[in-house]
Amino acid sequence: MSSSTYNSSQVVRRARALLYEKWQPRGEPLIVTRGPGRLNLIGEHTDYNHGYVMPVAVDRSVVIAATPREDQRIRVYSEGLDSAAEYTLGREPDDHKPGWIKYLEGVSWVLADLGKSLRGLDAVLYSDVPRGAGLSSSAALEVAWAMALLTATRDHLPPRELALACQRAENEYVGMKCGILDQFASVFGRAQSALLIDCDSLEIEVVPLQGHPISLVVCDTNRPRSLVNSEYNQRRASCEQAARLLGLPSLRPATRETVMAARETLGEENFKRAWHVVTENERVIETAEAFKRGDLEAVGRMISASHRSLRDYYEVSCPELEAMWTATQRAGCYGSRLVGAGFGGAVLALVAEEQVRQFIPQVTASYLESAGRQPNVFAVQIANGAEVVLPSG
Ligand code: ADP
Ligand code: MG
Repeated sequence: MSSSTYNSSQVVRRARALLYEKWQPRGEPLIVTRGPGRLNLIGEHTDYNHGYVMPVAVDRSVVIAATPREDQRIRVYSEGLDSAAEYTLGREPDDHKPGWIKYLEGVSWVLADLGKSLRGLDAVLYSDVPRGAGLSSSAALEVAWAMALLTATRDHLPPRELALACQRAENEYVGMKCGILDQFASVFGRAQSALLIDCDSLEIEVVPLQGHPISLVVCDTNRPRSLVNSEYNQRRASCEQAARLLGLPSLRPATRETVMAARETLGEENFKRAWHVVTENERVIETAEAFKRGDLEAVGRMISASHRSLRDYYEVSCPELEAMWTATQRAGCYGSRLVGAGFGGAVLALVAEEQVRQFIPQVTASYLESAGRQPNVFAVQIANGAEVVLPSG
C-alpha cells in the first residue's frame, strides 16, 4: 500500500464535496481511502488450480470518503449507482437492501469476526472502475471499505490479512467464490510492476516491468455473458477430475509430460483442460522472466499464446471474443488475449504507449464491422495499490 499516482488533492476535494453534499456530517476526522481495480496480464483459470497469476493494479479506483458517527449506524451513498443504503454494525444480515451493500456488510462482518471493534460511518463512494468489465470493481470496493472502517478506529490490518478478509467477505457473505487474485492485486499493486502470485503458497513477487513504455488496452466486447457459471463450474470439475486421475492433490505439480503420458486415462476433455493449465503456468513464469529482461516481444507472444490455449484447449472463447482478438492482432500490439471467465467480457491488449491513439479507433471500427456491435475500448495504466489518502501520514 503505497502512495498514489493519482492527484490526491483532487481526489480529496471531490470526495469531501460529495460527502458534505450528501450527509452534512458533523464528525471528524475526514477519512478518504482508495482501492484500485486490477487486470490480470497472464495466468487465466490457473488460480483455482493452485497455479500462477500475474495481475497489476490499474489507475481506476473506488474512492470512499467517510466520517465516524457516535453510534453503530452505517450510511453510504454510491454516486455511480445514485443509491443510498444503511445498515447497523453487528446486525449485518438483512435482505431489504440494494445488492451492492452486501459487499460492505460482508467486509464489516468479517472484520468484526477478526476481533476488530468498529464504529458507525457516514460515507460516500465514487468510482471509475467499470462494473462487471473485468477490472474487479468488487474487490476495489471491498478493499477501500475495509480501510475506511479500520481507519475510523485508528486500527489497521497487515496488507495480506486485509486482502484475505475482503476475499472472505466476498466468498462467505456475498457468495461469490472468487480466488485471492483480485484482492491481492488491489492491495499489493505497484506502479510499473506486475505481481507474480503463487496461488498455492500465496507468495507474491513484485516483477518490475522493464522495456518500452506500454499501455494496457481493455477491449470490452459488450456481449452479455451467458452460461458463464455453468461452464465455469464444468471447467473446475474437469480440472479436479484430471488431478485425481493423475493422483495429484491439484494440477499444480502436473507437467506437460505427465499430462501427455496420461492422455488416454484422462479422456480428451480433461486432457485439454489440464493441458491449458500446465502450459499456462509455464507461460506465466516465462512472462515474468521476459518482463525482467525488458523483452516485450516475448511477453506479447506469451499473452497471445495464452489466448490460443484458452480458445483451443480450455474452450472458453466465443465469436465476439474472436472478432475482438483478431481486431487487436491486426491493429498492432505486442500481444492480446481474452481475460476473465470467457464467453464474453473483454480482450486485453499490451500496446506500445505511442500506438494507443491509433490502436483504439482501429480496433473499435474493425470489431464493429465484424461483430456488428459497439465495443468499449479504453486504455489504463499500471498503478499503485490501495491507500488511505486521509488522514495522511
Ligand atoms: P467486477 O468484475 O467488476 O468485480 P462483480 O460482479 O464481481 O464485477 O462486482 C460488481 C458489483 O460490485 C456491482 O454489481 C456492485 O454490487 C458492486 N460495485 C462495484 N462498483 C460499485 C459502485 N461504484 N457503487 C456501488 N457498488 C459497486
Ligand atoms: Mg468481482
